[in-house]
Amino acid sequence: MSEPENWANADDEENDPDYVPPAEMENGHITSDSEDETNTSEEELPPVSQEGDFDTDLPTAHRYLGKLDNVRGYTLYDDGQVINILAIYTATMVFPGFTLPLVINTFMETSILPEFLEKNNVFVLLCANSTFNGIFNYGVTMEVFETQQRDNVLSIKARGRQRCKIVPGSEIKNLTGRLKHVTVQIIAEPEISTPLCDTQMISLKQKRLFTSTLYGDLMKNYKYRRYHMAQFPISSWVYDKNEISYYVKLILECLAHYVGEYIPEDPIKLSYWFVQNYQLSHEERLHILKLNSGLERLKLEYKYLKLERSMCCNSCGIQITDPSKVFAMSKDGIQSNYVNPGGHVYETVTVMTAQNFKLEGQPSRQFSWFPGYAWTIMQCKSCANHLGWQFTSNTLRPRCFYGLAKIGFKVVIHKKASSEFEFYQSRSTTFASDYIPV
Ligand SMILES: [Zn+2]
Repeated sequence: MSEPENWANADDEENDPDYVPPAEMENGHITSDSEDETNTSEEELPPVSQEGDFDTDLPTAHRYLGKLDNVRGYTLYDDGQVINILAIYTATMVFPGFTLPLVINTFMETSILPEFLEKNNVFVLLCANSTFNGIFNYGVTMEVFETQQRDNVLSIKARGRQRCKIVPGSEIKNLTGRLKHVTVQIIAEPEISTPLCDTQMISLKQKRLFTSTLYGDLMKNYKYRRYHMAQFPISSWVYDKNEISYYVKLILECLAHYVGEYIPEDPIKLSYWFVQNYQLSHEERLHILKLNSGLERLKLEYKYLKLERSMCCNSCGIQITDPSKVFAMSKDGIQSNYVNPGGHVYETVTVMTAQNFKLEGQPSRQFSWFPGYAWTIMQCKSCANHLGWQFTSNTLRPRCFYGLAKIGFKVVIHKKASSEFEFYQSRSTTFASDYIPV
Protein backbone atom coordinates (compact mmCIF):
# COMPACT_ATOMS: atom_id res chain seq x y z
CA MET A 1 0.00 0.00 0.00
CA SER A 2 1.36 3.38 -0.86
CA GLU A 3 0.84 6.60 1.08
CA PRO A 4 -2.42 6.40 2.96
CA GLU A 5 -4.91 8.55 1.14
CA ASN A 6 -7.26 10.40 3.40
CA TRP A 7 -10.85 11.41 2.90
CA ALA A 8 -9.98 15.04 2.59
CA ASN A 9 -7.77 14.17 -0.36
CA ALA A 10 -10.48 12.01 -1.82
CA ASP A 11 -12.72 15.01 -1.60
CA ASP A 12 -10.21 17.18 -3.41
CA GLU A 13 -9.90 14.64 -6.16
CA GLU A 14 -13.60 14.66 -6.61
CA ASN A 15 -13.57 18.38 -7.20
CA ASP A 16 -10.67 18.10 -9.55
CA PRO A 17 -12.00 17.52 -13.06
CA ASP A 18 -8.61 16.17 -14.14
CA TYR A 19 -8.49 13.52 -11.46
CA VAL A 20 -7.85 10.05 -12.78
CA PRO A 21 -7.64 7.09 -10.41
CA PRO A 22 -4.34 5.24 -10.42
CA ALA A 23 -4.05 2.88 -13.35
CA GLU A 24 -2.87 0.03 -11.16
CA MET A 25 -4.87 -0.18 -7.98
CA GLU A 26 -2.84 -1.39 -5.09
CA ASN A 27 -3.54 -3.66 -2.17
CA GLY A 28 -6.20 -5.53 -4.13
CA HIS A 29 -7.63 -8.47 -2.29
CA ILE A 30 -8.60 -10.21 -5.47
CA THR A 31 -5.76 -11.23 -7.70
CA SER A 32 -6.10 -12.83 -11.08
CA ASP A 33 -5.85 -16.59 -11.33
CA SER A 34 -6.12 -18.64 -14.46
CA GLU A 35 -7.45 -16.25 -17.05
CA ASP A 36 -5.44 -13.99 -19.24
CA GLU A 37 -5.79 -10.46 -17.99
CA THR A 38 -3.87 -8.41 -20.46
CA ASN A 39 -5.41 -9.08 -23.86
CA THR A 40 -8.95 -7.89 -23.55
CA SER A 41 -9.16 -4.93 -25.83
CA GLU A 42 -12.50 -4.16 -27.43
CA GLU A 43 -11.55 -5.47 -30.88
CA GLU A 44 -10.50 -8.87 -29.62
CA LEU A 45 -13.67 -9.66 -27.75
CA PRO A 46 -15.26 -12.91 -28.87
CA PRO A 47 -18.94 -12.83 -29.83
CA VAL A 48 -21.52 -12.97 -27.09
CA SER A 49 -22.65 -16.48 -26.28
CA GLN A 50 -25.10 -18.07 -23.90
CA GLU A 51 -22.51 -19.64 -21.62
CA GLY A 52 -21.22 -18.07 -18.44
CA ASP A 53 -23.84 -15.52 -17.47
CA PHE A 54 -22.50 -13.22 -14.81
CA ASP A 55 -23.77 -13.90 -11.30
CA THR A 56 -25.48 -10.62 -10.39
CA ASP A 57 -25.27 -11.47 -6.69
CA LEU A 58 -21.50 -10.97 -6.82
CA PRO A 59 -21.24 -7.16 -7.03
CA THR A 60 -23.51 -6.62 -4.01
CA ALA A 61 -21.23 -8.93 -2.02
CA HIS A 62 -18.36 -6.45 -2.63
CA ARG A 63 -15.87 -9.34 -2.51
CA TYR A 64 -13.01 -7.08 -3.59
CA LEU A 65 -13.01 -5.89 0.04
CA GLY A 66 -11.91 -9.37 1.09
CA LYS A 67 -13.67 -11.49 3.68
CA LEU A 68 -15.17 -9.36 6.42
CA ASP A 69 -16.63 -10.35 9.78
CA ASN A 70 -20.39 -10.35 10.19
CA VAL A 71 -21.88 -7.92 12.66
CA ARG A 72 -25.15 -9.01 14.21
CA GLY A 73 -28.06 -7.07 15.56
CA TYR A 74 -29.57 -3.82 14.43
CA THR A 75 -31.43 -1.25 16.42
CA LEU A 76 -34.60 -0.25 14.60
CA TYR A 77 -35.39 3.19 15.93
CA ASP A 78 -38.93 4.29 16.73
CA ASP A 79 -40.61 6.74 14.42
CA GLY A 80 -39.91 10.27 15.58
CA GLN A 81 -37.14 9.17 17.96
CA VAL A 82 -34.35 11.71 18.41
CA ILE A 83 -30.83 10.24 18.61
CA ASN A 84 -27.28 11.49 18.94
CA ILE A 85 -25.28 9.53 16.45
CA LEU A 86 -22.10 9.33 14.42
CA ALA A 87 -22.48 10.55 10.84
CA ILE A 88 -20.36 9.94 7.75
CA TYR A 89 -20.45 12.55 5.05
CA THR A 90 -19.97 11.27 1.50
CA ALA A 91 -20.62 12.52 -2.00
CA THR A 92 -23.26 9.90 -2.48
CA MET A 93 -26.61 9.10 -0.91
CA VAL A 94 -27.83 5.59 -0.28
CA PHE A 95 -31.54 4.93 0.09
CA PRO A 96 -33.16 2.43 2.48
CA GLY A 97 -32.55 -1.16 1.37
CA PHE A 98 -29.33 -0.46 -0.55
CA THR A 99 -25.70 -1.20 0.31
CA LEU A 100 -22.76 1.10 0.85
CA PRO A 101 -19.19 -0.23 1.01
CA LEU A 102 -16.58 1.91 2.75
CA VAL A 103 -12.81 1.63 3.08
CA ILE A 104 -11.50 3.89 5.81
CA ASN A 105 -7.76 4.28 5.92
CA THR A 106 -6.83 7.53 7.59
CA PHE A 107 -5.34 7.14 11.05
CA MET A 108 -7.76 9.52 12.74
CA GLU A 109 -10.84 7.95 11.24
CA THR A 110 -9.77 4.37 11.91
CA SER A 111 -9.00 5.28 15.50
CA ILE A 112 -12.38 6.91 16.17
CA LEU A 113 -14.83 4.89 14.13
CA PRO A 114 -14.41 1.38 15.65
CA GLU A 115 -15.09 2.75 19.11
CA PHE A 116 -18.40 4.18 17.97
CA LEU A 117 -19.38 1.10 16.02
CA GLU A 118 -18.61 -1.17 18.96
CA LYS A 119 -21.29 0.57 20.99
CA ASN A 120 -23.79 0.80 18.18
CA ASN A 121 -23.40 -0.60 14.70
CA VAL A 122 -25.39 2.22 13.14
CA PHE A 123 -24.31 5.52 11.65
CA VAL A 124 -26.06 8.18 9.62
CA LEU A 125 -25.10 8.82 6.02
CA LEU A 126 -25.17 12.47 5.02
CA CYS A 127 -24.51 14.08 1.66
CA ALA A 128 -24.12 17.53 0.15
CA ASN A 129 -27.07 19.85 -0.40
CA SER A 130 -28.25 20.83 -3.84
CA THR A 131 -25.83 23.73 -4.17
CA PHE A 132 -22.90 21.65 -2.84
CA ASN A 133 -22.02 24.23 -0.21
CA GLY A 134 -23.27 22.45 2.89
CA ILE A 135 -24.81 19.35 4.37
CA PHE A 136 -28.27 18.26 3.24
CA ASN A 137 -30.63 18.13 6.20
CA TYR A 138 -31.94 14.66 5.45
CA GLY A 139 -30.00 11.42 5.71
CA VAL A 140 -30.39 7.68 6.07
CA THR A 141 -29.42 5.50 9.02
CA MET A 142 -26.99 2.80 7.93
CA GLU A 143 -26.71 -0.60 9.56
CA VAL A 144 -23.16 -1.92 9.56
CA PHE A 145 -23.46 -5.63 8.78
CA GLU A 146 -19.85 -6.54 7.99
CA THR A 147 -16.61 -5.01 9.13
CA GLN A 148 -12.93 -5.78 9.39
CA GLN A 149 -9.83 -3.89 10.43
CA ARG A 150 -6.62 -4.99 8.80
CA ASP A 151 -3.33 -3.06 8.61
CA ASN A 152 -4.96 0.18 9.73
CA VAL A 153 -7.56 -0.13 7.00
CA LEU A 154 -11.15 -0.45 8.16
CA SER A 155 -13.51 -2.05 5.64
CA ILE A 156 -17.22 -1.68 6.25
CA LYS A 157 -20.38 -2.76 4.49
CA ALA A 158 -23.53 -0.98 5.55
CA ARG A 159 -27.17 -1.10 4.48
CA GLY A 160 -29.59 1.83 4.37
CA ARG A 161 -32.42 1.49 6.92
CA GLN A 162 -34.48 4.52 7.96
CA ARG A 163 -34.75 8.07 6.72
CA CYS A 164 -33.90 10.73 9.24
CA LYS A 165 -33.60 14.49 9.51
CA ILE A 166 -31.04 16.62 11.29
CA VAL A 167 -32.84 18.29 14.20
CA PRO A 168 -33.06 22.01 13.29
CA GLY A 169 -30.74 24.12 15.42
CA SER A 170 -28.81 21.14 16.77
CA GLU A 171 -25.04 21.17 16.77
CA ILE A 172 -23.15 19.37 14.01
CA LYS A 173 -19.83 18.49 15.57
CA ASN A 174 -16.94 17.81 13.18
CA LEU A 175 -14.89 14.91 14.54
CA THR A 176 -12.27 14.25 11.90
CA GLY A 177 -12.23 13.89 8.13
CA ARG A 178 -15.72 12.96 7.09
CA LEU A 179 -16.89 11.92 10.54
CA LYS A 180 -19.38 14.10 12.33
CA HIS A 181 -21.55 13.88 15.41
CA VAL A 182 -25.15 14.88 14.81
CA THR A 183 -28.60 14.84 16.38
CA VAL A 184 -31.22 13.39 14.08
CA GLN A 185 -34.88 12.52 14.23
CA ILE A 186 -36.11 9.29 12.64
CA ILE A 187 -38.76 9.89 9.98
CA ALA A 188 -41.76 7.55 9.95
CA GLU A 189 -42.60 5.63 6.81
CA PRO A 190 -46.39 5.93 6.75
CA GLU A 191 -48.39 2.79 6.09
CA ILE A 192 -49.74 2.53 2.59
CA SER A 193 -53.37 3.47 2.56
CA THR A 194 -55.82 4.45 -0.13
CA PRO A 195 -58.06 7.49 -0.44
CA LEU A 196 -61.09 5.27 0.12
CA CYS A 197 -59.68 3.72 3.26
CA ASP A 198 -62.29 3.15 5.98
CA THR A 199 -65.21 4.35 3.93
CA GLN A 200 -66.85 0.99 3.41
CA MET A 201 -68.71 -1.19 5.87
CA ILE A 202 -66.59 -4.03 7.22
CA SER A 203 -69.22 -6.59 6.24
CA LEU A 204 -68.94 -5.54 2.60
CA LYS A 205 -65.16 -5.31 2.54
CA GLN A 206 -64.82 -9.10 2.39
CA LYS A 207 -67.14 -9.46 -0.59
CA ARG A 208 -66.41 -6.42 -2.66
CA LEU A 209 -62.77 -5.54 -2.77
CA PHE A 210 -62.72 -2.00 -4.13
CA THR A 211 -59.27 -1.02 -3.10
CA SER A 212 -55.97 -2.90 -3.19
CA THR A 213 -52.24 -2.38 -3.44
CA LEU A 214 -52.40 -4.32 -6.70
CA TYR A 215 -53.78 -2.31 -9.59
CA GLY A 216 -55.04 -5.46 -11.31
CA ASP A 217 -57.24 -6.34 -8.32
CA LEU A 218 -58.57 -2.83 -8.24
CA MET A 219 -59.61 -3.07 -11.88
CA LYS A 220 -61.23 -6.47 -11.39
CA ASN A 221 -63.68 -4.94 -8.96
CA TYR A 222 -63.98 -1.61 -10.64
CA LYS A 223 -67.76 -1.83 -10.99
CA TYR A 224 -68.16 -1.97 -7.20
CA ARG A 225 -65.59 0.74 -6.78
CA ARG A 226 -67.61 3.05 -9.02
CA TYR A 227 -70.81 2.28 -7.10
CA HIS A 228 -69.01 3.04 -3.89
CA MET A 229 -67.49 6.29 -5.14
CA ALA A 230 -70.83 7.58 -6.39
CA GLN A 231 -71.54 8.77 -2.86
CA PHE A 232 -68.65 11.24 -2.93
CA PRO A 233 -68.78 14.63 -4.64
CA ILE A 234 -65.39 14.33 -6.39
CA SER A 235 -64.99 12.46 -9.68
CA SER A 236 -63.83 8.86 -9.46
CA TRP A 237 -60.66 9.43 -11.50
CA VAL A 238 -59.35 11.74 -8.77
CA TYR A 239 -59.46 8.83 -6.33
CA ASP A 240 -57.91 6.51 -8.92
CA LYS A 241 -55.02 8.91 -9.40
CA ASN A 242 -54.30 8.85 -5.70
CA GLU A 243 -54.04 5.09 -5.46
CA ILE A 244 -50.46 4.01 -4.90
CA SER A 245 -51.04 0.95 -7.10
CA TYR A 246 -51.79 3.28 -10.03
CA TYR A 247 -48.28 4.76 -9.88
CA VAL A 248 -46.66 1.37 -9.31
CA LYS A 249 -48.32 0.19 -12.50
CA LEU A 250 -47.31 3.30 -14.50
CA ILE A 251 -43.69 3.20 -13.37
CA LEU A 252 -43.33 -0.53 -13.94
CA GLU A 253 -44.76 -0.11 -17.45
CA CYS A 254 -42.27 2.67 -18.23
CA LEU A 255 -39.37 0.59 -16.90
CA ALA A 256 -40.47 -2.64 -18.59
CA HIS A 257 -37.72 -2.44 -21.24
CA TYR A 258 -35.13 -1.82 -18.53
CA VAL A 259 -34.20 -4.61 -16.20
CA GLY A 260 -37.63 -6.03 -15.40
CA GLU A 261 -36.69 -8.96 -13.23
CA TYR A 262 -34.90 -6.84 -10.64
CA ILE A 263 -37.49 -4.13 -10.17
CA PRO A 264 -39.46 -4.60 -6.95
CA GLU A 265 -43.25 -4.39 -7.14
CA ASP A 266 -43.73 -3.41 -3.52
CA PRO A 267 -44.59 0.33 -3.60
CA ILE A 268 -42.12 1.43 -0.90
CA LYS A 269 -39.28 -0.70 -2.25
CA LEU A 270 -40.04 0.50 -5.77
CA SER A 271 -39.95 4.14 -4.68
CA TYR A 272 -36.45 3.63 -3.25
CA TRP A 273 -35.30 1.39 -6.09
CA PHE A 274 -36.23 4.11 -8.57
CA VAL A 275 -34.39 6.93 -6.84
CA GLN A 276 -31.35 4.71 -6.28
CA ASN A 277 -31.21 3.51 -9.87
CA TYR A 278 -32.83 5.87 -12.32
CA GLN A 279 -30.67 8.59 -13.83
CA LEU A 280 -31.73 11.59 -11.78
CA SER A 281 -29.85 14.77 -11.00
CA HIS A 282 -28.51 15.30 -7.48
CA GLU A 283 -31.30 17.79 -6.74
CA GLU A 284 -34.00 15.47 -7.98
CA ARG A 285 -32.72 12.74 -5.69
CA LEU A 286 -32.54 15.06 -2.70
CA HIS A 287 -36.08 16.19 -3.39
CA ILE A 288 -37.32 12.59 -3.34
CA LEU A 289 -35.43 11.90 -0.10
CA LYS A 290 -37.38 14.72 1.53
CA LEU A 291 -40.82 13.38 0.63
CA ASN A 292 -42.68 11.67 3.41
CA SER A 293 -44.67 8.87 1.86
CA GLY A 294 -44.29 6.21 -0.79
CA LEU A 295 -47.20 7.72 -2.72
CA GLU A 296 -45.59 11.18 -2.86
CA ARG A 297 -42.30 9.65 -3.97
CA LEU A 298 -43.87 7.53 -6.71
CA LYS A 299 -45.92 10.47 -8.02
CA LEU A 300 -42.86 12.65 -8.39
CA GLU A 301 -40.77 9.80 -9.76
CA TYR A 302 -43.34 9.20 -12.47
CA LYS A 303 -43.04 12.85 -13.47
CA TYR A 304 -39.25 12.58 -13.55
CA LEU A 305 -39.58 9.45 -15.71
CA LYS A 306 -41.43 11.43 -18.34
CA LEU A 307 -38.56 13.87 -18.84
CA GLU A 308 -36.24 13.21 -21.71
CA ARG A 309 -32.67 13.10 -20.49
CA SER A 310 -29.17 12.06 -21.53
CA MET A 311 -25.92 11.33 -19.74
CA CYS A 312 -23.14 13.75 -20.72
CA CYS A 313 -19.51 14.38 -19.76
CA ASN A 314 -19.50 16.37 -16.54
CA SER A 315 -16.72 18.57 -17.80
CA CYS A 316 -17.39 19.36 -21.47
CA GLY A 317 -21.00 18.22 -21.88
CA ILE A 318 -20.49 15.80 -24.78
CA GLN A 319 -23.08 12.99 -24.79
CA ILE A 320 -21.74 9.69 -23.46
CA THR A 321 -24.92 7.63 -23.40
CA ASP A 322 -28.58 7.87 -22.46
CA PRO A 323 -30.73 6.26 -19.76
CA SER A 324 -32.14 3.64 -22.17
CA LYS A 325 -28.67 2.03 -22.31
CA VAL A 326 -28.41 1.31 -18.60
CA PHE A 327 -28.82 -2.25 -17.39
CA ALA A 328 -28.33 -4.16 -14.16
CA MET A 329 -25.11 -6.03 -13.46
CA SER A 330 -25.98 -6.28 -9.79
CA LYS A 331 -28.97 -7.42 -7.73
CA ASP A 332 -28.96 -3.94 -6.24
CA GLY A 333 -29.85 -2.56 -9.66
CA ILE A 334 -28.31 -0.27 -12.21
CA GLN A 335 -26.57 2.09 -9.88
CA SER A 336 -24.46 0.87 -6.98
CA ASN A 337 -21.70 2.14 -4.76
CA TYR A 338 -18.22 0.68 -4.95
CA VAL A 339 -15.07 1.66 -3.16
CA ASN A 340 -11.47 1.62 -4.35
CA PRO A 341 -8.48 0.74 -2.13
CA GLY A 342 -7.89 4.46 -1.57
CA GLY A 343 -11.23 4.68 0.24
CA HIS A 344 -12.95 6.64 -2.50
CA VAL A 345 -16.61 5.64 -2.93
CA TYR A 346 -17.77 5.64 -6.54
CA GLU A 347 -21.42 5.59 -7.33
CA THR A 348 -21.36 3.61 -10.51
CA VAL A 349 -23.96 3.13 -13.24
CA THR A 350 -23.65 0.17 -15.58
CA VAL A 351 -24.45 0.78 -19.25
CA MET A 352 -24.37 -1.46 -22.31
CA THR A 353 -23.03 1.07 -24.78
CA ALA A 354 -21.20 4.37 -24.59
CA GLN A 355 -19.73 6.81 -27.07
CA ASN A 356 -17.18 9.65 -27.21
CA PHE A 357 -14.68 7.99 -24.90
CA LYS A 358 -11.11 6.65 -25.09
CA LEU A 359 -9.45 3.93 -23.03
CA GLU A 360 -6.43 4.64 -20.86
CA GLY A 361 -3.91 1.99 -19.83
CA GLN A 362 -4.12 -1.79 -19.81
CA PRO A 363 -7.01 -3.90 -18.49
CA SER A 364 -6.55 -4.97 -14.88
CA ARG A 365 -8.35 -7.44 -12.64
CA GLN A 366 -7.02 -6.08 -9.37
CA PHE A 367 -9.75 -5.05 -6.92
CA SER A 368 -12.33 -5.63 -9.67
CA TRP A 369 -15.85 -4.73 -8.58
CA PHE A 370 -17.26 -7.34 -10.94
CA PRO A 371 -15.43 -10.59 -10.21
CA GLY A 372 -14.20 -12.16 -13.46
CA TYR A 373 -14.05 -8.86 -15.33
CA ALA A 374 -11.00 -6.76 -16.06
CA TRP A 375 -11.34 -2.99 -15.94
CA THR A 376 -9.79 -0.27 -18.09
CA ILE A 377 -10.05 3.43 -17.35
CA MET A 378 -12.42 5.40 -19.62
CA GLN A 379 -11.78 9.04 -20.39
CA CYS A 380 -13.77 11.61 -22.32
CA LYS A 381 -12.60 11.74 -25.92
CA SER A 382 -12.74 15.51 -26.11
CA CYS A 383 -11.60 16.68 -22.65
CA ALA A 384 -9.99 13.58 -21.01
CA ASN A 385 -12.30 13.81 -18.00
CA HIS A 386 -12.41 10.51 -16.08
CA LEU A 387 -15.74 8.88 -17.00
CA GLY A 388 -15.48 5.44 -15.45
CA TRP A 389 -14.29 2.02 -16.52
CA GLN A 390 -14.78 -0.43 -19.32
CA PHE A 391 -15.26 -3.96 -17.99
CA THR A 392 -14.32 -6.89 -20.19
CA SER A 393 -14.25 -10.66 -19.84
CA ASN A 394 -13.41 -13.53 -22.17
CA THR A 395 -15.73 -15.96 -20.48
CA LEU A 396 -18.64 -14.12 -18.94
CA ARG A 397 -21.71 -12.64 -20.51
CA PRO A 398 -21.91 -9.79 -21.35
CA ARG A 399 -18.37 -9.69 -22.76
CA CYS A 400 -18.14 -5.96 -22.32
CA PHE A 401 -19.99 -3.21 -20.49
CA TYR A 402 -19.23 0.17 -18.96
CA GLY A 403 -19.31 1.33 -15.38
CA LEU A 404 -19.79 5.10 -15.44
CA ALA A 405 -18.72 6.94 -12.31
CA LYS A 406 -21.46 9.27 -11.19
CA ILE A 407 -18.94 12.07 -10.65
CA GLY A 408 -17.78 11.79 -14.27
CA PHE A 409 -21.10 12.51 -15.95
CA LYS A 410 -24.12 14.69 -15.48
CA VAL A 411 -27.73 14.05 -16.29
CA VAL A 412 -28.99 16.62 -18.78
CA ILE A 413 -32.74 17.07 -18.95
CA HIS A 414 -33.78 18.08 -22.46
CA LYS A 415 -37.33 19.18 -22.08
CA LYS A 416 -40.21 19.30 -19.76
CA ALA A 417 -42.82 16.65 -20.42
CA SER A 418 -45.88 18.47 -19.19
CA SER A 419 -47.01 21.62 -17.50
CA GLU A 420 -47.91 19.51 -14.50
CA PHE A 421 -44.19 19.14 -13.87
CA GLU A 422 -43.71 22.87 -13.50
CA PHE A 423 -45.90 22.76 -10.47
CA TYR A 424 -43.53 20.35 -8.76
CA GLN A 425 -40.51 22.23 -9.93
CA SER A 426 -41.62 25.62 -8.71
CA ARG A 427 -42.83 24.34 -5.39
CA SER A 428 -39.58 23.87 -3.56
CA THR A 429 -36.59 22.97 -5.67
CA THR A 430 -34.52 24.46 -8.43
CA PHE A 431 -32.60 22.57 -11.05
CA ALA A 432 -29.70 24.95 -11.29
CA SER A 433 -26.83 22.64 -12.13
CA ASP A 434 -28.39 19.86 -14.16
CA TYR A 435 -31.45 21.37 -15.69
CA ILE A 436 -30.53 22.75 -19.06
CA PRO A 437 -33.49 24.09 -21.00
CA VAL A 438 -33.32 23.61 -24.75
ZN1 LIG B 1 -15.57 15.81 -21.71
